Amino acid sequence: MNRNIYNADLTHTGNGTMALTFPLGNSYVVSYAKKILGDDLNFRLFKYQDRLSQAILDDPPLVLALSNYCWNIELGYTLIKWAKSLNPNLVVVLGGPNFPTQASEKKNFFKLRPYVDFYIESEGEIAFVNLLQELKEYDFNVKALKKTQVNIANCSYMIGEQLIEGKIERIRDVNLIPSPYLNGLLDEFFDPKLSLIPMLETNRGCPFSCTFCADGISFKNKVYSYDTQRVKEELNYVYNHVKNMDELRFSDLNFGMFKQDEETAQHIAELQSKYSWPKLIRASLGKNKPDRITKIANILNGTLVMGASQQSSDVDVLKNIKRSNISGEAYGKLLKFMNETNKNAKTYTEFILGLPGDSMEKHFMSLKHGVDNQVNTIRMFQAILLSGTEMATPEVRQKFELLTKYRVITGCVGKYQFGKKNIPVTEIEEIIVGSKDLTFDDYVSCRVMDLIIETFHNNALFEEFFLGLQKLGISEFECLVYIFEHSELYTNKMKDIISSYIKATKEGLYDTYEEALEKSVQPVRFEQHLSGEIGSLELVEHKAQLYYQLKDLVSVLLSTANTFMKKKGKLTKATADYFEQLGNYIICAKSNITKPELEIIENFNYNWVSINKLNFDVDPIKIKRTDNKMVYKFFNSAEQKKQIINALNIHPNHPNGAPMIYQQNLKKLYRNCDLI
Ligand code: SF4
Repeated sequence: MNRNIYNADLTHTGNGTMALTFPLGNSYVVSYAKKILGDDLNFRLFKYQDRLSQAILDDPPLVLALSNYCWNIELGYTLIKWAKSLNPNLVVVLGGPNFPTQASEKKNFFKLRPYVDFYIESEGEIAFVNLLQELKEYDFNVKALKKTQVNIANCSYMIGEQLIEGKIERIRDVNLIPSPYLNGLLDEFFDPKLSLIPMLETNRGCPFSCTFCADGISFKNKVYSYDTQRVKEELNYVYNHVKNMDELRFSDLNFGMFKQDEETAQHIAELQSKYSWPKLIRASLGKNKPDRITKIANILNGTLVMGASQQSSDVDVLKNIKRSNISGEAYGKLLKFMNETNKNAKTYTEFILGLPGDSMEKHFMSLKHGVDNQVNTIRMFQAILLSGTEMATPEVRQKFELLTKYRVITGCVGKYQFGKKNIPVTEIEEIIVGSKDLTFDDYVSCRVMDLIIETFHNNALFEEFFLGLQKLGISEFECLVYIFEHSELYTNKMKDIISSYIKATKEGLYDTYEEALEKSVQPVRFEQHLSGEIGSLELVEHKAQLYYQLKDLVSVLLSTANTFMKKKGKLTKATADYFEQLGNYIICAKSNITKPELEIIENFNYNWVSINKLNFDVDPIKIKRTDNKMVYKFFNSAEQKKQIINALNIHPNHPNGAPMIYQQNLKKLYRNCDLI
């Protein structure tokens, strides 16, 4: 008898690989199932639809078990329908966070997706093994098993109109799950052609309860950790197998908040000093232990992307999303440290536009908070209503009169071969575009301000410029609002880019999930989504387009700076000259970032080498101007060139390919400047 069990964490690939990390979630499920049932059943793990479809044709499975996230549900379900058409007895299991918590909504989920036989909620390892054991008892006959109405922890299914729900249980000793790295299960994903980012989990659970987040529900509040020794062995394993990939990610929800994270960081630092890897570490950082997080950031010496996801600076909004249990004081400490840390570290904060109670004024105040605290990258998102979260319940929608629309998730689009059929697939999400406190026009204006912040503030593009203005008592945020309000300053090219951005913000929105699903796969519309013409990452894409007009941006900034200096009585020949030459310095150091071989020679009357040593924290009135011009060479080091090429390779086929590099820590990639 065929004994194949196929598990997959599918990703879209129509616009390049959408989910760029190793298929970690389902690998734990397979790893544990292999340990318990490996002698009886053949397990395989997949990430790519084409490989899975081929395997289904060549060597069909008994069970198909797919991870279900908002970014792959339609791809997974299209595959399920096709696989069931080949074999109606195939057992289909879905698992993952994209599932409602209320019984009536669960029933609706099964009604809309009748080919799903079982759904596993919360942690999947033990539930999947228990389900397989039950299925074995009944020769993998779904009907026979369901008839017994057996209760399986963490597992839901329908029998007729009746929903059977197992009670939710957590795994207290996560070390019982064998490491999918150390047992070789993830080896094939190190293939450098895939350019996947290795991801590690050092603990599970989150003590916070944010209403917009699937990890905020009460049964996930306790945190269980893996042994540190095991994490160290995994890190060694990853280093020994990884090729041409500088980045490492942690899936922990609060990395740096726990004692054992210090030991993990120490071990990474040892790898870094011996092998210069990893160069960039991303994780969702802990929210309430700034001292420990800063200690860890010090150990990792500027390679940890440092930030604090605040979502809003407004106390009422934070209360509405139950995030007020996260200490504002902790944020303050963290931000202070981030500003004082390694000058090349990438620091970030995150704000979500449109959360319950948010308004245009409150969104601007949030942005001001980020800019005033000199966070180097402010990430600005729209509020997404995720299945199974409190924010998506009818009560919250009514209370705040949430106005929502549906759109295709960026990058979650593609045409896929299923046997002889070629089927277009898109994924849909619901976003908030207004509420009783935020009109749709306000929402669009906020998005334009987000683009101004993304362009002029993020990635320290004009950091040197704003530091100089600050010395003259001029606020960066006021300058940014001035740029937002004075579109007459924009060049024609900038005006075109901003109009295209506003169009992209308004287009591609649908009124219902069903309408979005149906219309987005119609031939013309689908091609627009596939090419990125509609529904691309409009903020990243248009920021990149503006970035290519760096000279125009500098001219807008110079006019703005002159206006403010005039108002303050600080506009002199000397200050105007300093900022003009500084603008040119920025063009030499930061233009054409995707061309690492490009070297620029330019003359200036300022000693940039010594000003750089002072981190550009200099008073433009007092700075010495040399009579003779000095000649400088701007260039990338060999190490930077390698990093830029690796970063460009992560998204080779993405319509936003080059723009995606702007998600990197650009501070480390800008050209160096030497006197010649
Ligand atoms: S702190 Fe982060 S992971 Fe935890 S509930 Fe809030 S948003 Fe989710």
